[in-house]
Amino acid sequence: MKTPTLSGRPTVAEIDLKSLEFNYRQLQRRVPKGVNLLAVVKADAYGHGAVPVALKLEKLGVEYLGVAIPEEGVELRKGGVKTPILILGGIFGPDVDQIFRFHLTPVIFRKDYLQALSKEAERRRRKVRVHLKVDTGMGRLGVPFNLWPDFLKEVKRSSKIETEAILSHFSMTDEKEGEFTQQQWRAFEEAVAIAREIGISFKYLHMASSAILTRLPSCSGNLVRPGIMLYGSYPSPTFQRLISLKPLMTLKTRIHFLKSVPPGTRISYGGTFTTKRDSLIATLPIGYADGYNLHLSNQGDVLIRGKRAPVVGRVCMDFTIVDVTDIPKVSVGDKVVLIGRQGKERITAEEIAEKINSISYEVLCSIGKRVPRIYKG
Ligand SMILES: *Cc1c(COP(=O)(O)O)cnc(C)c1O
Repeated sequence: MKTPTLSGRPTVAEIDLKSLEFNYRQLQRRVPKGVNLLAVVKADAYGHGAVPVALKLEKLGVEYLGVAIPEEGVELRKGGVKTPILILGGIFGPDVDQIFRFHLTPVIFRKDYLQALSKEAERRRRKVRVHLKVDTGMGRLGVPFNLWPDFLKEVKRSSKIETEAILSHFSMTDEKEGEFTQQQWRAFEEAVAIAREIGISFKYLHMASSAILTRLPSCSGNLVRPGIMLYGSYPSPTFQRLISLKPLMTLKTRIHFLKSVPPGTRISYGGTFTTKRDSLIATLPIGYADGYNLHLSNQGDVLIRGKRAPVVGRVCMDFTIVDVTDIPKVSVGDKVVLIGRQGKERITAEEIAEKINSISYEVLCSIGKRVPRIYKG
């Protein structure tokens, strides 16, 4: 048995920034010459910690960073990030002030916000840089195609609005033949042509996330917006053959409690698991409050001493219980990997996603605030 330490709960997410560098270079290699990267670090860099990830990307020379909401942009600025930051999700009324104070670039698709920004820019006697978004088939944010010319005329009316880019977003990221994707790309090109006709000039055109920049780099414009692949995960399993990436995150803990129980012992809430043999049962100090999903109850595996141990019974808020009967020499304090590698075994976010009918994105960004992120490299 290991000597207990007093350094607190051993549940941590270790983030390997060397792997971030590896993935960044892999993506850089994929994109055509002259195409820059906007690294998407929204949702706390998909659960990896926005500030350390952004600072590393800044060191690597990334052109632009992307977040979902203004607060995320403010957090990066307060953390010392100097790189241009795009607010992908647009602004909300009262955020206009933050755009100026923290030098953020908003994506704009509403006339009223365009006017509010323009007014504030005039008051401050300075220009404000924006990216204009057109909807080409995602059906979410973006000016509807039929209103696009009218929207652009409004942009043109304000001398304080500086259009740095036009963007759109692809929806069929899983589609193999990419027919709808091509259709969206043609619509985007048309939207860009309309903007040129109206006399709007811009530096960037961007539309591709991880999936499209890998599969159809010709539909990329001159700036691409990878998110998930930077973190070493894939938009869907088919992409694993197209590009080799390294996951950044290792989610780990240590065995907190260990006991022998006879056959017929119920485990955890609801008694959904009953031992069938003399068993060794380990309790791990991580639960669904930490982002270890409830649906991994009686489904998940963890790695201990390089072997898989199954989750037994229901995952609790703060604890998860595993059957370690088949792990030789198992003891209290043993290292446990829930996501990541141990010896020859590996558990990916994709594996967990498949078990809980989710996607790797959700698995990664669900890892809770209670889990400290520890950085390597
Ligand atoms: C999240 C997001 C991305 C990144 O997508 P990935 O699939 O993670 O590469 C790109 N663009 C927009 C608008 C997004 O919201």
